[in-house]
Amino acid sequence: MDAETPVYSIGTVARMLGVSVFTLRMYEREGLIISHKSDTKHRRYSQSDVERIKCIRRAINELKFGIAGIKGVYALIPCWSIVNCSQQDRANCEAYKGHSKPCWAHKHESNTCTSRVCRECPVYQKLTDCAKIKKSILAASVPA
Ligand code: SF4
Repeated sequence: MDAETPVYSIGTVARMLGVSVFTLRMYEREGLIISHKSDTKHRRYSQSDVERIKCIRRAINELKFGIAGIKGVYALIPCWSIVNCSQQDRANCEAYKGHSKPCWAHKHESNTCTSRVCRECPVYQKLTDCAKIKKSILAASVPA
């Protein structure tokens, strides 16, 4: 099974990880995760989503991060470098200018991300834990 295939229901993921359905919905509302919606509008999660949620749980339970802190870590991902945004896109992008929430939690009304599907974007799909996020930051160039 492909790690990105959304196969698990919210109840299954809640049982797997020992969290409540309410908590998973709250993570989504806060922009930490993006669930897949089935044709019947039910949330579905992939193995990759499960790994992301495990990382969020570790950050909360072991590192004592709050939700705002995790959003701040996601906000550091240099998405503009990964998806190669133009200077004009960067000038029109709240994610490029801000630092309080992940790029996928912003509305993108007039830049390259307007037509992109965040759940299918490598920025969201591939950066599921702190080590990968740190690598992406290190790989981005240092600003002048
Ligand atoms: S498509 Fe979404 S996840 Fe990808 S860089 Fe744009 S806002 Fe971020």
